[in-house]
Amino acid sequence: MHIREKLAQKEAAGEPGISFEFFPPKTAQGVQNLYDRMDRMANLGPGFIDITWGAGGRLSELTCEMVGVAQSVYGLETCMHLTCTDMGQEKVDQALAAAYKAGCTNILALRGDPPRDKETWEAADGNFRYAKDLKYGNHFDIGVGGYPEGADDNDDVDQLIDHLKEKVDAGSSFIITQMFYDAENFIEWVKKCRAKGITIPIIPGIMPIQTYAAFIRRSNWTKTRVPPQWMEALEPVKNDDAAVRDIGKHLIAEMCRKLMASGLNHLHFYTMNLAQATRLVLEELGLAPSDDSPIQRPLPWRPSLALG
Ligand code: FAD
Repeated sequence: MHIREKLAQKEAAGEPGISFEFFPPKTAQGVQNLYDRMDRMANLGPGFIDITWGAGGRLSELTCEMVGVAQSVYGLETCMHLTCTDMGQEKVDQALAAAYKAGCTNILALRGDPPRDKETWEAADGNFRYAKDLKYGNHFDIGVGGYPEGADDNDDVDQLIDHLKEKVDAGSSFIITQMFYDAENFIEWVKKCRAKGITIPIIPGIMPIQTYAAFIRRSNWTKTRVPPQWMEALEPVKNDDAAVRDIGKHLIAEMCRKLMASGLNHLHFYTMNLAQATRLVLEELGLAPSDDSPIQRPLPWRPSLALG
């Protein structure tokens, strides 16, 4: 099912929705562990999961395979990331054919990060320079990335909103944002997007806090603003992972409550392929299933039903 329909159903029912991002692990054992985790996390009731695309197409076959397994074995609705880094028309067509065969109907269309051996991004094919240049038939629902605090190569937030509007006008139907920790700034950014005529659903990207070191590393890497109260709460317990996760779960849940109170009813979790920190936040928010409200898992996708 298209993500835009899933979002509309939840919106109409007045229920919050959640989704999880995973990335292709480097080892075969890592892949198996992730499948087991995906199966368990399906019980948390995500509306969809998405799988990232390796810079320069690295691990891209695994992305396609994971999409197929999630869709057909675990019955999860999937969204496949697709970047134009080092991608010409032929490679894009192959990736889309693989997604189609796997039963995937959603693509997150991105320009992509530069490959590891390059500092800056260069187009492989004159047709593909920006995310909006990837084109598809109606089979796929297309999402795009949004940057509430600036992107790697552009810190002009207003200009990025103009570029986001171009991507929306090119046919995307939902936006997933980069991670952030400043709820007030995010809510203001959403208002700016709306004022620029961006009316499609905006899905906030939530990065749960697993350890202090990872929290600092990621926020520095993505130049994410950290509210001073967060540092005051986390820094004193930085060597105690359990305490960091416990305080982190309260901070992230409070941020999610502010987002939901502002009218955003879908939360997208960057799981980093780990279950615990995301599950703790969902429990804190009362969004994890309980014995009183168990999750009904959908039936796995069957190629014969979809293509026949
Ligand atoms: P675009 O929106 O295409 O923008 C790229 C740059 O070009 C920006 O600086 C923008 O301002 C500029 N630009 C856009 N349009 C124009 C124009 N018309 N004229 C001039 N300049 C313009 N990366 C991966 O490699 N794999 C992934 O799986 C992946 N998943 C992601 C998921 C999410 C939710 C997000 C937010 C990012 C993800 N990224 C991923 C990172 C992303 O690929 C990089 O941040 C990349 O630098 C920007 O991609 P984009 O599609 O958002 O770019």
